[in-house]
Amino acid sequence: MALAKRTSQISKSLTLAITSKANKMKEEGIDVVGFGAGEPDFNTPSFIIDAAKEALDKGFTKYTANSGTPALKKAICDKFLKDNNLNYAPNQIVVSNGAKHSLYNAMLAIIEQGDEVIIPAPFWLTYPELVKMCEGTPVIVDTKDDKFKLTPKKLESAITPRTKAIIINSPCNPTGVVYSKEELWALAQVLEKTDIYIISDEIYEKIIYNGAKHYSIAQYSEKIYKQTIVINGASKTYSMTGWRIGYLAADAEIARAIDNIQSHCTSNANSIAQYATIAALNTHSSFLQEMVKTFDERRRIIVDFVNSTKDLSCPNPQGAFYVMINISSIFGKSIDGKVIDSALKAAELMLEYARIAVIPCESFGAPDYIRLSYAISKEDIQKGLKRLEEFLNTLR
Ligand code: PLP
Repeated sequence: MALAKRTSQISKSLTLAITSKANKMKEEGIDVVGFGAGEPDFNTPSFIIDAAKEALDKGFTKYTANSGTPALKKAICDKFLKDNNLNYAPNQIVVSNGAKHSLYNAMLAIIEQGDEVIIPAPFWLTYPELVKMCEGTPVIVDTKDDKFKLTPKKLESAITPRTKAIIINSPCNPTGVVYSKEELWALAQVLEKTDIYIISDEIYEKIIYNGAKHYSIAQYSEKIYKQTIVINGASKTYSMTGWRIGYLAADAEIARAIDNIQSHCTSNANSIAQYATIAALNTHSSFLQEMVKTFDERRRIIVDFVNSTKDLSCPNPQGAFYVMINISSIFGKSIDGKVIDSALKAAELMLEYARIAVIPCESFGAPDYIRLSYAISKEDIQKGLKRLEEFLNTLR
């Protein structure tokens, strides 16, 4: 009996082996510092939890409208207007089970067999896999020579008659780079001349530092607004990763198609989590400000460490909660006769010898890099960096 071909086209997670080994070591009582976290290490704020309790007490436990409750969709429209100056009507919004689900829904609605999707590298590792699941072809465009940002020139040369979509992720996981308004507008000028869809993943929009400002490419013009599917969600901004609420905003026709797709796959996102997300979006709270301040302190610790360490370098992250570190200068070096010939090997040896778990970035389109998340305590960061320093000093 044969499995569908698409199952063999999905890449195996390179990070899984490291993560499970790190978990095993922790279970054995070994003190491992985990730099792998992809989620804020803060509790969901209590006012959001209270709203969820209220939903339960009210018996708000049944199916909702497939694309989200009218109240949540209104709160999302208000958010887009307030934060991004984007005017959407409720019929342009679809609420799903996390931003990842929103991305998949969007791709299912627009990508056909053989369609090309431009993905600037480094990228969040899920993007090319979703494209392949929709039978499209990821077209990876490297940006490391351009400060990790796609330029209009590179974009133009990647476009072919088969190009169906492009994915833009600002602030970016894993680099942390944030596109300026001018940089986004320059890309928009190229895309405006085409009928290419723009999937703009803005999940980290509020986790930004140093006065950086977030812009959505959809703000550029009426035509670009129609071409763009904006992806966002509650996971990162409100430390609600487990609640699984993501949403997208798009042209009404695209949103209708996505609504149809979702109606036959998952139906509505969890009713209680939807109710709580209204509180998240509508309540003025200092939670986010404090979380970003804490992230910023930790970010500086890692960036300062990298900048003062001979063998390391990194793009200066202005958003999200990751630092992507170039470790290519240790390739060829060894420990105990074990040679580091890749980021994956470096990560394995860092776990074995330094008891730190880092993410090798081969699957993020950045094979010279490892990613460190700073969604862990300052003390753990300091401990982990000390171990990393000792590890680097031990290499021959
Ligand atoms: N987009 C990016 C760039 C991410 O890093 C993540 C999660 O790591 C997601 C989307 C998915 O978010 P969610 O947990 O809402 O599915």
